[in-house]
Amino acid sequence: ELANRMAERVADVVKSLMQMGMMVTQNQTIDADTAELIIEEFGHKVTRVSDSDVEDVIKEIEDKEEDLKSRPPVITIMGHVDHGKTSILDAIRNARVVAGEAGGITQHIGAYQVKTESGTVLSFLDTPGHAAFTSMRSRGAQVTDIVILVVAADDSVMPQTIEAINHAKAANVPMIVAINKCDKPAADPMKVRAELLQHEVIVEAMSGEVQDVEVSAHTGQGLEELLEAIALQAEILELKANPARAAQGAVIEAQLDVGRGPVATVLVQTGTLRQGDIFVVGEQYGKVRALINDKGERVEEAGPSVPVEVLGLNGTPEAGDVLNVTETDAQAREIAEYREQAAKDKRAAAGAATTLEQLMQKAKEDENVSELPILVKADVQGSAEAIVQAMEKIGNNEVRVRVLHSGVGAITETDVGLAEASGAPIMGFNVRANTSARNTANQKGVEIRYYSVIYDLVDDVKAAASGLLSAEI
Ligand code: GDP
Repeated sequence: ELANRMAERVADVVKSLMQMGMMVTQNQTIDADTAELIIEEFGHKVTRVSDSDVEDVIKEIEDKEEDLKSRPPVITIMGHVDHGKTSILDAIRNARVVAGEAGGITQHIGAYQVKTESGTVLSFLDTPGHAAFTSMRSRGAQVTDIVILVVAADDSVMPQTIEAINHAKAANVPMIVAINKCDKPAADPMKVRAELLQHEVIVEAMSGEVQDVEVSAHTGQGLEELLEAIALQAEILELKANPARAAQGAVIEAQLDVGRGPVATVLVQTGTLRQGDIFVVGEQYGKVRALINDKGERVEEAGPSVPVEVLGLNGTPEAGDVLNVTETDAQAREIAEYREQAAKDKRAAAGAATTLEQLMQKAKEDENVSELPILVKADVQGSAEAIVQAMEKIGNNEVRVRVLHSGVGAITETDVGLAEASGAPIMGFNVRANTSARNTANQKGVEIRYYSVIYDLVDDVKAAASGLLSAEI
């Protein structure tokens, strides 16, 4: 690699290293100081990339007050499972599409925009739940301005409702409470309000400051009111960004598309992203070949709070990765490569630590604990994360599910190899196995199961876990 970069012959570089007393082969990694000596010896110039260089290239620009323009709020829906998060997201999207807002059916790109009747534009993240919210935050991308806390009026406050409250509070993001399923005879909105009070969420109806709206995703009751409540909250927040600068955004989801290559949905946070822009995103880089909006239309540019699909990446980034437009191709590439190496070093260090830790942990733990190992492959990062989260919740003191590996993309031979070694089945969510993986799996007796509904997958694993339980007893 070093020889390549210097446009010198590998043999000459190796020879030179040997003359320095280092017996190396051509694929060996050498430290930075040695590399620098070699580079100078060959008469080339050294440029080292470091954390501070990366920061220099993608430095925070202080925006002038007059450059700041108001931008749409970005909304995440959270709440307990089955309380209607997905239904509300769908109802809002469909209502606006039918209202003639868009030129047809919205594309699923992980986020969408709607306009309220009074004309405010809102950007919704289409992956409900706090798993995605938290994983984005842990990667340094806080994109959410407002959290909609969905609580079913017939079920009231549940464990994940409390978790969602805590996540929103930890992130310092204001909440709006949507009391859902108000069409049901068993609906008791007052009970919801009273229980929220116990968790220090004081809604307006209880003389507090948190807006609360009674809604029904099924009948559409209260949805327009909910949108206006969001618009009002956004006004209070005075959200602003400078559209006239190099874009920065966060990856909402990313996948490897068979026809189009790596595709990432990016929510622009500041600046304007344009076709032709050169960028770095996490450990990947690229040049914007095309931008596609939530209606599936090609657009020339995307400003603050606008979600767009970005084509033209060299690899698939991860949800939560930050995208920065750079001035030159070389900058983007160097930062991406620097990050990749840094991440590799970190993984190598962490890998060794985990194994030891795991071994010790295992020794300490009850010998009667059974583990159900599985592999998870999904079409998008958000789904993979949601599945892993759900898996972690399955089990008790005697049985537990262990996700050996989870990833995005088709099931490959590598996955089958890992599954075989650990006696684990492979759970594919909206993905298939490629031919060689399928053949190998057949040969080695590795089970591959396909799903398109997360609940089905979870149910099957639950059943397997309880089967394991009874078999052990
Ligand atoms: P999520 O897990 O929070 O995303 O919940 P879903 O949106 O998948 O909804 C869970 C179940 O509740 C589904 O069977 C929905 O049809 C139902 N549901 C959602 N909203 C309403 C509502 O407003 N009224 C009624 N009656 N049922 C609802």
